[in-house]
Amino acid sequence: MKESDFSSTTREKHRLPDDRGRFGAYGGKYVPETLMYALDELEAAYASAMADPIFQEGLERLQTHYVGRPTPLYFAERLTRSLGGARIYFKREDLAHTGAHKINNALGQCLLAQRMNKPRVIAETGAGQHGVATATAAALLGLECEVYMGAEDMERQRLNVFRMRLMGAKVTCVNSGSRTLKDAINEALRDWAANVEHTHYVLGTVHGPHPFPMICRDFQAVIGRETRRQLAEAEGRLPDLMIACVGGGSNSIGLFYDFLGDVSVRMIGVEAGGTKIAPGMHAARFAGGSFGMLQGAMSYVLQDKNGLIGSTHSVSAGLDYASVGPEHAYFHDNKRITYTYATDDEALDAFQRCSRLEGIIPALESAHAVAEVIKQAPAMDAGDIIVMNMSGRGDKDVQQAARFIMPDEEL
Ligand SMILES: *Cc1c(COP(=O)(O)O)cnc(C)c1O
Repeated sequence: MKESDFSSTTREKHRLPDDRGRFGAYGGKYVPETLMYALDELEAAYASAMADPIFQEGLERLQTHYVGRPTPLYFAERLTRSLGGARIYFKREDLAHTGAHKINNALGQCLLAQRMNKPRVIAETGAGQHGVATATAAALLGLECEVYMGAEDMERQRLNVFRMRLMGAKVTCVNSGSRTLKDAINEALRDWAANVEHTHYVLGTVHGPHPFPMICRDFQAVIGRETRRQLAEAEGRLPDLMIACVGGGSNSIGLFYDFLGDVSVRMIGVEAGGTKIAPGMHAARFAGGSFGMLQGAMSYVLQDKNGLIGSTHSVSAGLDYASVGPEHAYFHDNKRITYTYATDDEALDAFQRCSRLEGIIPALESAHAVAEVIKQAPAMDAGDIIVMNMSGRGDKDVQQAARFIMPDEEL
């Protein structure tokens, strides 16, 4: 069987979501009537773009010449030797333009906005990474861009606020609620409902109402398609284990998607274990959450008995969210993907170990995946292969990490 045949068989078997936007019991579109129209319009425009070879060629051209794809699949030799087990490969999304995988989705959706003749895009951002990716793609395509960001987050992520403004985006401060990501999303949805004729909402991960989880997944799936080709070239076979961190879930589903039909490939998603698995101290939705709804989709949610959304904590801002993409909830329940977590301490340890052994400073989000590699690799055979998604680079996190690792150092 040719490699390309195998890939398309895989996709055939996992044609989800269904036509109501559901992954089993999860997903859907639980939004006010005013947004229904916008979601339907987006779904139709997306279907037409995916079927249009000119759109696909345009996207591919920018992925190559602007984003820098394909990103390398790198054999981490010193980490492999130090752990003494499976051969470890990093998929280097940290080397994509703007330093993380988020540009894959932001660029795809901004091209979609352009195709829909919408001159304005809006986005929500927590840590600022998705805001920066959207501001970047908007600058490239000459779109007007407004980014909603909680007041708390703006204070914590001033460098990213400046980056967005430098690229011409308007950054709007959100003062409601907890003044963080959840409130910024609500504000963005409100803006979208009011301005839908000329505005597209670039949602940053595989969450929210249908069709966002599907659109974002499809734009990120390039990560896994490249990995399949690159590993076939390097090793002539499939990996035994794939590992990625899970915030909303876009970089992990991006890596895993093309391999879901390959039953020999194990997959582990790593959530933020924070300081411990107790209310308010982590963001491990599968360890501490339950069936519920947040921001337009059914999924696992951190909430109390009355459905009140719980507060979360993680050393990594990008993993610090009370819900997780509905497709992950589906693959959690049917056990195709295993979910675990790494604590703040384990992630910080992995952050240093990866920096020292490989000269690669991982994003604190990605360091959660490195922590799981450190747990898994020694127990595996020397002939086994792990592929881990290095979702982003850690330059953005050095100050935060220094506070924990070298508290006496002047920065
Ligand atoms: C935002 C972010 C994440 C978490 O988001 P996902 O949608 O789960 O991928 C992970 N890594 C990096 C570097 C990020 O910026």
